[in-house]
Amino acid sequence: MSNDYQYNQSNYKNSSSYHNRHARQAKKRKAMRITLYVMLLGIIGALAVFSAGQYMTVRSLKSDLDALESRFEEIEEENQWLEKKYEEIYEKNREIIEENEKLREENKMMRSQTIIEHGNRDTNKVALTIDDGAGADLTQRALDYFKEYGVQATLFPKGDIVERQPEVWQRAVDEGHELGNHTYSHPFLSTYSDEGVARELSGWQEAVEESLGYPYRTLFFRPPYRDGYSSGQGHHRERIQDIVAEKGMFTILWDIELLYSLRNTAYTRENIANYVLENARGGSIVLLHFVEEDIAALPAIIEGLRERGLEPVTLSEVLLAEAQN
Ligand SMILES: [Zn+2]
Repeated sequence: MSNDYQYNQSNYKNSSSYHNRHARQAKKRKAMRITLYVMLLGIIGALAVFSAGQYMTVRSLKSDLDALESRFEEIEEENQWLEKKYEEIYEKNREIIEENEKLREENKMMRSQTIIEHGNRDTNKVALTIDDGAGADLTQRALDYFKEYGVQATLFPKGDIVERQPEVWQRAVDEGHELGNHTYSHPFLSTYSDEGVARELSGWQEAVEESLGYPYRTLFFRPPYRDGYSSGQGHHRERIQDIVAEKGMFTILWDIELLYSLRNTAYTRENIANYVLENARGGSIVLLHFVEEDIAALPAIIEGLRERGLEPVTLSEVLLAEAQN
């Protein structure tokens, strides 16, 4: 009995602790459920906030994208405009190049047909030109006379002379005189091939630039011995003229020369000066040489021209001179 009781007692005890435990567990589960709900709510809330953030981000990204897209369209339009403009410019450029080519061709034709013997007759300007070159002393003397009288002239030295006396020709250019192309070695050009003629002209150019130390451009070519330009030399004249024109020069002859004109008279500075002064007119081109007599005649020529109201100048000045009224 006591056992039973004990048993019951313990059973009772057991059953009461069972109930207690059960209640505790239920309470714990409830707390846990609440915690879970809260957590769930928290998560849902967090998700909602996060989604709202995401939504805002997406919205702003989309508006950025729209802006980029419209900018891209603008750039595309600008590109098309530029492309059109570029094509227009390219077309214009092509026209200019063609026009240039035509002008160059006309220029060359004009030059190849131009052989100048004198300038405008309605001016008081006379070009003094001196050919070949000689010993440096004689050239320096000519430059001294020009300096003394304040005259500038056009000199046609051979290329090999310029090469040998760089300081003399530097002085000439420094003092305002012009140099014209008289070939490198002064040959009879009619005996030369086209290549040979071209080589003689470039040879002069190179010698002058080498001596001066900088690029030098001349518009003037004078044929040695007038070879190729005398009567009956039409074929040679044409081919030489083409080469001269190709190199951008005009051929310069003269209307007053001394060696042939004074062949039956004593070749003295008086006769030289007198011949020049009797024949010079406005626009005249006087051909002198670097020989003792011609250089000695320079002061009398310069003074005499001025007494007659004529002014000795460079070829450029004569050829560019406007008529005087
Ligand atoms: Zn000569």
